[in-house]
Amino acid sequence: MGFFQDNLVPFFKKRELQFIESYKEADDVYSFVFAKEEDLTWKAGQYGLFSITHKSINNGTRPFSISSAPDEDAVRITTRIGEQRSEFKSSLMELTPGMKIMMRGPVGPFYLRDNSPTLLIAGGIGITPFRSILRQLETAPNEAETRIHLLYLDGNRDYLFKDELADMEKRALVSVTYLDSRDELHQGIQKFSALHKNNGKYYVAGPKAMIESVTSCLQSDQVSKQNIKKDAFSGY
Ligand SMILES: Cc1cc2nc3c(=O)[nH]c(=O)nc-3n(C[C@H](O)[C@H](O)[C@H](O)COP(=O)(O)OP(=O)(O)OC[C@H]3O[C@@H](n4cnc5c(N)ncnc54)[C@H](O)[C@@H]3O)c2cc1C
Repeated sequence: MGFFQDNLVPFFKKRELQFIESYKEADDVYSFVFAKEEDLTWKAGQYGLFSITHKSINNGTRPFSISSAPDEDAVRITTRIGEQRSEFKSSLMELTPGMKIMMRGPVGPFYLRDNSPTLLIAGGIGITPFRSILRQLETAPNEAETRIHLLYLDGNRDYLFKDELADMEKRALVSVTYLDSRDELHQGIQKFSALHKNNGKYYVAGPKAMIESVTSCLQSDQVSKQNIKKDAFSGY
């Protein structure tokens, strides 16, 4: 799959999604659930471009990773919404069942490609694409054994999807290390890269500053660019 298949073609596909419900995942973190039409699918890890349509606002579109897996029966996004919220997020909070939102995509090259040893690196809300990726492995496991390790950094130790992740660990789909400092994160990355170097694949999702520091850590360990996939979450 190349750039056109992952980005350009799906970018022009837009559809309305019907809002079903929202719920609180943690302090200031909410999931929004939309009905999934039968012909809609995506690769676990991809994101959609979501637009508010029930009213006219400035900057009414945001990219969000789809936190549900394609085998689940709904489209779900998960986002941080604090007291100081953008007009976009205030509008999301106004949705009531039956209302619509527009989605373009799903797009992007952020999905597992093969059974290489894989390091997933999540910063805070950057766990969202990994929840989809891991959940998808649960329902459609790769034939060959995939060795996946997740490093999950959150400075407040406010980890999302913790019960689900614990369950996945029990089933040996993934091993998870919970971290609360950049130093620990860099140590975790170096441990994995020392073992697997360029035989491994590295997926990083989270705030831009965290992506930059992880990328330079990986590159100083001689991990080549083509083995690093990034989802830089703007706005954090
Ligand atoms: C590929 C990709 C995937 C992504 N996936 C996710 C995801 O799964 N979950 C997720 O949460 N984000 C995700 N993002 C980021 C997302 O698109 C938004 O940029 C992010 O959630 C911030 O949105 P916002 O509306 O709060 O921010 P912006 O409008 O960009 O505001 C930035 C900051 O300013 C503050 N702010 C904005 N307006 C006001 C206001 N009127 N008053 C006071 N303060 C204000 C906000 O608190 C915010 O911290 C993704 C981005 C990319 C590129």
